[in-house]
Amino acid sequence: MEIKYDAWAFFADYNKHIKFVIYAWLTIRDFIWEQGLLTDAEYKKVNNLIALHDDSKMSKEEYNAYATWFFPTEDVDRENFKGEFKKAVAHHKQANLHHFESLRNYKGPWWRCYIIEMICDYIAMGWKLGHFIFEYYDEHKEEMGLPKEYQEYLDKVLGLLKQPRLHMIAEPISKDYIKYLELTYL
Ligand SMILES: [Zn+2]
Repeated sequence: MEIKYDAWAFFADYNKHIKFVIYAWLTIRDFIWEQGLLTDAEYKKVNNLIALHDDSKMSKEEYNAYATWFFPTEDVDRENFKGEFKKAVAHHKQANLHHFESLRNYKGPWWRCYIIEMICDYIAMGWKLGHFIFEYYDEHKEEMGLPKEYQEYLDKVLGLLKQPRLHMIAEPISKDYIKYLELTYL
C-alpha cells in the first residue's frame, strides 16, 4: 500500500524529540554524575546513546510506517495498515534497548546506561505531550517486567530526580529554559 505522507512534518517531530532528549540529558547529567549513579565508562556511553537516540526511525523498517501512520496526507485505512505499523514499532523496540520491552531481556553490562536513556526519553515525551515523567512511570511500572536489579536502580534514580533543583523535568518546558540550555551548552 502506497500512501503519501508529510515528510517535513515527520522530520520536524523527530527533530523536536531528539532535541528534547538532549535537553533532558543536559538537565540531569551533572546530578547523575554527582550522585555516583554511573561509572566513568557508563557516563561516556550515555553521551553516545543520546547522540544516536532513536536513530532507527530512519531505517527502512521504520521510517515509512511511522511517517504514514502519524503524518498521512491522504486517508489511511488504519485497520489495513495496522499490521505494518505494528511491525515497525516492534522493530523500533527491538533495535533500541532504552525501551523496557527489549531491556528486560538484555543481559549485557550497559543496562544502567539504557535506563538513564529511557529516563531522558520519558522526560522528553513529557515535555512534548504534557504527560510528565513521574506520573507516566507510575502508570507503566507494573507492565515493565524488568529484572529486579534494573527496577530497583530505576526507582532509585527517579526518587533522587524528584527534587527542587530539577523541577523542570516534570513541568512544561519554557522558552527561557531552552534558551538557557542552548546558550550554556550548545
Ligand atoms: Zn525509542
